Amino acid sequence: IQVDISMNELQQLDKQHFLHPSSSIKQQQEHGPAFIFTEGNGIYLKDISGKKVIDGLSSLWNVNIGHGRKEMGQAAFDQMSKLAYSSCFATFSHEPAILLAAKLAELTPGDLNATFFTSGGSESNDTAIKLVRHYWILKNQPQKKKIISRTKSYHGLTIGATSATGIKVFRDFTQSLAPDFYYADHFSPESLRELIEVEGPDTIAAFISEPVQGTGGVLIAPDGYFQEIRKICDEYHILFISDEVITGFGRTGKYFGIEHYGVIPDMMTVAKGITSGYAPLGGVILSQKIHHEFIELSTETLFHGYTYSGHPVSCAVALKNIEILEREKLVENARVMGEELLKGFQWLQKEHEIVGEVRGLGLMAAIELVQDKATHTRFAKPLAPTIATELMKRGLNCRAVVLEGADTLVFAPPFIITPKVVNRMIEILHDTLSIVE
Ligand code: PLP
Repeated sequence: IQVDISMNELQQLDKQHFLHPSSSIKQQQEHGPAFIFTEGNGIYLKDISGKKVIDGLSSLWNVNIGHGRKEMGQAAFDQMSKLAYSSCFATFSHEPAILLAAKLAELTPGDLNATFFTSGGSESNDTAIKLVRHYWILKNQPQKKKIISRTKSYHGLTIGATSATGIKVFRDFTQSLAPDFYYADHFSPESLRELIEVEGPDTIAAFISEPVQGTGGVLIAPDGYFQEIRKICDEYHILFISDEVITGFGRTGKYFGIEHYGVIPDMMTVAKGITSGYAPLGGVILSQKIHHEFIELSTETLFHGYTYSGHPVSCAVALKNIEILEREKLVENARVMGEELLKGFQWLQKEHEIVGEVRGLGLMAAIELVQDKATHTRFAKPLAPTIATELMKRGLNCRAVVLEGADTLVFAPPFIITPKVVNRMIEILHDTLSIVE
């Protein structure tokens, strides 16, 4: 879009007409948007004033192949010109959705093999919740409808996904959400077991969790955690859903986050990295076992589906995105560059009094801010938002996480990152932390 309009005018229009997602309405009215981005190129974003920043969060953990890829635009153009839209309801189908579903069966671990497409992560988790409940109805156990997730988890903001989200502020936003949701302690298989025993295994449909909790502040489960979770789910006949909305398609240095633990979920939800943000798309991928049970037991229409389930343009874009990931070996690069980034963070930890724990898996990484390293005491008022603002001034985009008592900076740069840009990120962090200290 070509516009001949000043930054000031755009800010006024923004204030008057645009209700921003996950943002402060008051702040918007007081200050207007601080950045109006106009261009993205590789690892960089540029705003209307010409300021260029490293996109250290891949925007919303999603622009994994980097910005401004012409061949992604070409794939969308070609598909729009050939068949912009047709439905996949009932007896209709189209090539991009079929080919993408087949590609996902090939890429995902174990026997995961059939995909239900959605438009994003929240819809995917709502769909998974509905599918597991429907599954237990088909299995003549309709009382199995409770969903267990974890504290500090984030699964999206549609009603079902919000209900499954462990971070409480999202649930407190409205009064009544879906009933029958429970939260186990985020790193504790014992807590899951206890919850199951208290609630009764015959009432529980599924356990859902992110392999690495992203919005919670890049919280990485200890070795052995998911192996234990898988055992518990099998023991009590509870389905295990892996929410790979952030971790899917290479973010952790393997194609899917759960692969670090060597277990196979019954369902996997994906979005974001499936298209690297070039078009909205999500999906729920079912294991062959669950898929076959659906085939055997279903007698009626699957009363669930969206107009844009399997949008042809989004599917064509996803196929091109996966082709690029494979051709440029970007998942491997995410692993290698993730190790470099973590080394840089470990150096910052030695250099700076306020850097507490640092952690990372692939290109998902975090820095905890502390007032006192020895006692892990946090600042009375979290420092991460101020540091994130200062980082942005110096050309680095990241996210400040302050929910649930965190004071954390999180990073998830595009997989095309080079050692030079990793070093630049560390330099900017070093300078900024020195000024704040
Ligand atoms: N699940 C996880 C793990 C997420 O991080 C997110 C978004 O950040 C979602 C689900 C929701 O995805 P969307 O914003 O595409 O609805």
